[in-house]
Amino acid sequence: MSGGGNKMMCAVCGYPLEAFTQQEPPFEESYGHLRPWEADDHIPVPVPRGTLPNASRCDFCDRDGPTPWLILADSFVDTVFGYESDGHWGACETCGPLVKRRRWTEIYARLMETESTRPIEQRPRFPGRRAMTMEWWGRLEVHMHGVVPFREELNT
Ligand SMILES: [Zn+2]
Ligand SMILES: [Zn+2]
Repeated sequence: MSGGGNKMMCAVCGYPLEAFTQQEPPFEESYGHLRPWEADDHIPVPVPRGTLPNASRCDFCDRDGPTPWLILADSFVDTVFGYESDGHWGACETCGPLVKRRRWTEIYARLMETESTRPIEQRPRFPGRRAMTMEWWGRLEVHMHGVVPFREELNT
């Protein structure tokens, strides 16, 4: 279904998007920027306005605070871990650029640093945790398609 008045926005540039439906089967829907020119530096990343994570904790290093970076990702379910990733991820000021450069080892070190400040009973410790976490981020890497500054206006 498409039509006027949709509220899809581009998560990369913040412009409203217009839905187009193919004239032939499978009648897939695609999106184009609602502006006089079509951006050629990126493909539109449609997000329904108001659905971006507005987190106060980094999804990577687990630190409390603002998450000025958005990791654009498709939702996915991981059959190995049984984890579910629902849409985009939020990253703190430090982790965002690290995710962009796939510096998972450094990010994991930050996570450990965060946990070292917590009471011992709040620190998840089990064999293979590091490998599992790396693997999980590896799955994200397959499903992510960009690291962009969080746009507050898309959530209002
Ligand atoms: Zn855009
Ligand atoms: Zn972080």
